[in-house]
Amino acid sequence: MPRPARPDRNAPSMATSDTIVAIATAPGDAAIAVTRLSGPDAVAIAARHFRGARDPVASGSHRILFGSFVVGATVSGDIRLDTVLLSVFRAPHSYTGEDVVEISSHGGPAIPRSILESLTRSGARAARPGEFTERAYRNGKLDLAQAEAVAAIVRARSDRSLRAAHATLGGDLSRRIEALDAELVTILAEVESRIDFPADVREAAEVAALAARSGAAALLLREWISRLPSARRREEGVRVAIVGAPNVGKSSLLNALLGYDRAIVNEAPGTTRDTIEASIWLDGTEIRLTDTAGLHAATDPVERLGVERSERAAAAADLSIVVRDCTRPDAGAAESERLRAAASGPVIVAWNKRDLAPGPMALLPPAAAAGAAAAGVDAAAAKVAEVETIALRAGGVDSLVTAIRAALPRVLGENAAGELPATSLRQEALLTEAAAALERASDQLSALDPDNVAYDLSAVDLTEARRALGEMVGRGVDDAVVTAIFARFCIGK
Ligand code: GDP
Repeated sequence: MPRPARPDRNAPSMATSDTIVAIATAPGDAAIAVTRLSGPDAVAIAARHFRGARDPVASGSHRILFGSFVVGATVSGDIRLDTVLLSVFRAPHSYTGEDVVEISSHGGPAIPRSILESLTRSGARAARPGEFTERAYRNGKLDLAQAEAVAAIVRARSDRSLRAAHATLGGDLSRRIEALDAELVTILAEVESRIDFPADVREAAEVAALAARSGAAALLLREWISRLPSARRREEGVRVAIVGAPNVGKSSLLNALLGYDRAIVNEAPGTTRDTIEASIWLDGTEIRLTDTAGLHAATDPVERLGVERSERAAAAADLSIVVRDCTRPDAGAAESERLRAAASGPVIVAWNKRDLAPGPMALLPPAAAAGAAAAGVDAAAAKVAEVETIALRAGGVDSLVTAIRAALPRVLGENAAGELPATSLRQEALLTEAAAALERASDQLSALDPDNVAYDLSAVDLTEARRALGEMVGRGVDDAVVTAIFARFCIGK
């Protein structure tokens, strides 16, 4: 449990809040499920349904009790639903800061549902999405940046974005913001001291230093903002589009990559009209593969839609695999060129059906492509690597995976220095506001004539930057905004 960054919120709501309940684990068949209660009556409500050697009400904090969960009493006794473990956490030493009970039961749809219903019948209220984390925030266990990091942890689709989210949860983002804010406070103090006593010429150097410090702070924020797109990619996984003419073997290649038959392979051209999505994990990153409809000079309107979808998929993807047919090297050349042009990320050309093609082929090795980039040769050619595959029997999949792996650092912007704490879209907007305000302050402070420096205006902008940064960690954030942030969480979080 991370230390609260600003334990300035005592818990007045604790005494008045009700007790909430939710299934905290994902639905579906599973070995175990966890149902979570939080609030003043959490222990008492759980105890009503618990039969075991020890009494939850008499239990201290951080205890695990073994027993049965009962759903109702009849004259002949309790109806035992399941064998469970109760984990008891006493306020304030819990995730939410309130009394918390977690009930571990068997999984599947039936048991957790019954447990949830029994607990609501006994007085608990079904929790809203994110309500547990919202209570942790309102009780000062987490600041807003840390609370948002909890959502990022659940969403993370790569090991690196998980580390970034943990960094934020551990207070990394909050510490960066506080350090920057401390710098702004000292600049602001200097500026404000000059509002009533305009600087004389001897102070020009000092004012220039204040301008430089504001500018440096803005630059720091701009650098942070510029690295967010690749960080977000790590958060969302790498989108790979498999595109090419009908019947070249796209579905077969997807299956070969997945190692199992996910896509339905069909010999009639143009059967994969809707996109098929599936994922593999490579080097700790989720690779989200999309098999699109074939690209050819389509006349059938449904098929034409598929063609456009292919181009859109290549444009939207972080990486595209253009599949070509070895036996018809000239067919689809123009379409493949169009895809290559439409693709926004690196392109790997997979020459498929290698088993049917006679003799050796001249491929462009990835190293040659990299060399072309270094020599400043045609950028379109530079982003291409070529491999040979026999999708039908998973031949060449190793070299395809190697090519994908080689493109990953570029796609993920992995060469950027240092780790970035997870930053939400809300926080990105605030960073941009703060950077713009600091740039304005820096401009005003670097006005050449010290008598004409608009001290009051730069004070306004510095204050504006402080406000935006403060909101990142939850200072002065509107209650409606807080509610909206937690509404995007999943239930039970
Ligand atoms: P798509 O329309 O591009 O998705 O192509 P499919 O994956 O549906 O494949 C079309 C046909 O080509 C099927 O009959 C596959 O069995 C066949 N095929 C795919 N890859 C290969 C390959 O590497 N070698 C051979 N001989 N046939 C292949």
